[in-house]
Amino acid sequence: MIAIYPGSFDPITLGHLDIIERGSKLFEQVIVAVLRNPDKSPLFTVQERVEQIRKCTIDLPNVEVDSFAGLTVEYARLRNAKVLLRGLRVLSDFEKELQMAHTNETLWDEIETVFLATSNEYSFLSSSVVKEVARFGGSVDHLVPHAVALDIYRCYAETHPGSTPPTATNPATPTTRLRVDQEV
Ligand code: ADP
Repeated sequence: MIAIYPGSFDPITLGHLDIIERGSKLFEQVIVAVLRNPDKSPLFTVQERVEQIRKCTIDLPNVEVDSFAGLTVEYARLRNAKVLLRGLRVLSDFEKELQMAHTNETLWDEIETVFLATSNEYSFLSSSVVKEVARFGGSVDHLVPHAVALDIYRCYAETHPGSTPPTATNPATPTTRLRVDQEV
């Protein structure tokens, strides 16, 4: 059985990765599908996000990374997948996710949405939280895969030359902050 894990992944977090790893044990194949959404102004391009996810799932042979535009169910049909994998964190996720699952079912009655509950340690974690922390100069090393953290620091440093990105050898402290004020 093939499952699609659709999302924005801007950027991928350890919470997303946890869902991917657990999903890969449940399904024959998991296709992580980055949504090309023209309405959002993302931190990373779709291609960058696809590359980031590929790098952190390289050890999972049954995980594929792709991007798509348009209706998720149409993409699922195209990929011969009848399961949509989604993660649930808090009650507010549930309302939104249930609405989406029901809507998708009206579009294709063979599609099933499978929810995995977040692991406790990642229940607070979202891509927005990561961007908010990085924007104010905090370390995100404990929130995203290492390579992604480096991309985030690089990204904010490029848009704000002279800033000092926190790294493993130069951890973020109140005195070593990125000077960033970009909207995320
Ligand atoms: P979207 O814009 O589609 O919500 P996201 O990248 O924010 O895209 O999330 C993709 C999926 O991953 C959603 O189902 C979301 O609930 C889930 N998710 C996000 N963060 C976590 C987390 N920390 N733990 C479990 N699931 C998560």
